Amino acid sequence: MRPHLLQLLLLSLCLTGCQGVGSRSLDAGPTADEVKVRLNDDGPPATVDSPAMATSASKQIVLHTDHPLENRQRLLEDLSEERSYIAERLNLAPPATPVHIYLFAKQAAYHDHVHAKFPQFPTRRAIFVSADNQLSVYAHGGDHLVEDLRHEATHGFLHAATPNLPLWLDEGLAEFFEVGRGREGLHRGHVDYLLGQQAIANWKPDLERLEQITDAALMTQLDYAESWLWVHFLLESAGDKSPVLTAYLADLRSGTAEDALSVRLSRRVPNAGDQVAAHLGKLPR
Ligand SMILES: [Zn+2]
Repeated sequence: MRPHLLQLLLLSLCLTGCQGVGSRSLDAGPTADEVKVRLNDDGPPATVDSPAMATSASKQIVLHTDHPLENRQRLLEDLSEERSYIAERLNLAPPATPVHIYLFAKQAAYHDHVHAKFPQFPTRRAIFVSADNQLSVYAHGGDHLVEDLRHEATHGFLHAATPNLPLWLDEGLAEFFEVGRGREGLHRGHVDYLLGQQAIANWKPDLERLEQITDAALMTQLDYAESWLWVHFLLESAGDKSPVLTAYLADLRSGTAEDALSVRLSRRVPNAGDQVAAHLGKLPR
């Protein structure tokens, strides 16, 4: 991250399942109970100032829990595999910046902690926070924990690897990877929703429209679903278009991404909107 970005204390709030709306950028200063960790390369944290939470680390993932976690090592391994999978699919170099996962056993404890730390945040099931020089995910146990962690951790991995991601792409990628490996990013809920919007509201894919959205508070369920569809089209449709996306991410990382992705894609696929709609029609419901 560039120094001036560190000073902005950007808070990126993401609602897993992305059916709701949150504010992406809020101001928040560090609080007295802020956990401070200094990592060795792949080793455990050198210092931890949080007696209330047990901490362990693996491959730039730091897991903090307020309860004994039977499958602690397995969870770390799963997140590490997810990180590697994302890096592989997007041709990203493994980022050096760690992602901190704060996992609470009870919903009430999670809400109490998040509210105390970020009082201006609306209540959400799980959040990703990029504040100062730390990338953090907060979540609690429950039926949606696995997808919650995949979604929010994806934001963490992406922010660690690629600065200045457009909002639509940040969310589209998180939606793509939250379904887990082996499903090729297929999000059946989004497929059903978008097909319904086609039938009811004559919705048509429009990437340029998505690219204009810079405030998560303005993103609708349709925007999240369409963002996912464009990512799925780029990564999973016939005639491998993934280089368009991976080259764009590389240019974002190096600060040389002058053209929007829609412009780049139009050079490769002139009628991309029609092709994305056709791609949607081929997906299993
Ligand atoms: Zn999100």
